[in-house]
Amino acid sequence: MTANILIVEDEPAIQELLAFNVNQCGFKATQALDANSAARQINQALPDLVLLDWMLPDTQGVEFARRLRADQRTRNIPIIMLTARTEERDKVMGLESGADDYITKPFSPRELMARIRAVLRRRMPEMSEETVTFAGLSLSPTTHRVTANGAALDLGPTEFRILHFFMTHPERVYSRTQLLDQVWGDHVFVEERTVDVHIRRLRQALEPSGLSGLVQTVRGSGYRFSPD
Ligand code: CA
Repeated sequence: MTANILIVEDEPAIQELLAFNVNQCGFKATQALDANSAARQINQALPDLVLLDWMLPDTQGVEFARRLRADQRTRNIPIIMLTARTEERDKVMGLESGADDYITKPFSPRELMARIRAVLRRRMPEMSEETVTFAGLSLSPTTHRVTANGAALDLGPTEFRILHFFMTHPERVYSRTQLLDQVWGDHVFVEERTVDVHIRRLRQALEPSGLSGLVQTVRGSGYRFSPD
């Protein structure tokens, strides 16, 4: 799965440098020059990670990070703060505002990319390339192969993403809106019943191996992935 990384940075040269490096690393960069524009983009589609400059023309980066943390929808987006400030108390303030990591300009692109990978690995297990196994299922993100009790499953790309998300987030109930945000990255332009269509296909694919019961409907709430 390609991680979408929103870069919030008002200096065009740094913005371009960051986007170049992010794309080179196999991520997909989206760009915002200030906090308002970032907020609009996030409202349309959730990024997988935000690179957030400390000094922005409209809102301080730390303030924007706090806002993202205060909103239930954006609470879990990983944030890496970028700053020209090197003082220890700034670092503490950045992390207290809810950032996951903090990097000082000028930074080496290699170091930044390593930090991005580390934060994604920690915060978003479904972004990891590692094979996941759960309740008789085995899913490999790199080869896109899924087996159920040893037998190969043929899944469409969306069913694959849903299953990967479920396998890395079992036992929790997700509403359709949350699944749209988490799996599609988009709760605005995709209809909620689309979720039901793909859930049905996923269940059908799991049926022959007797595992369709893993995908549970929680009435009035959404869906849960659980062996019980
Ligand atoms: Ca700036």
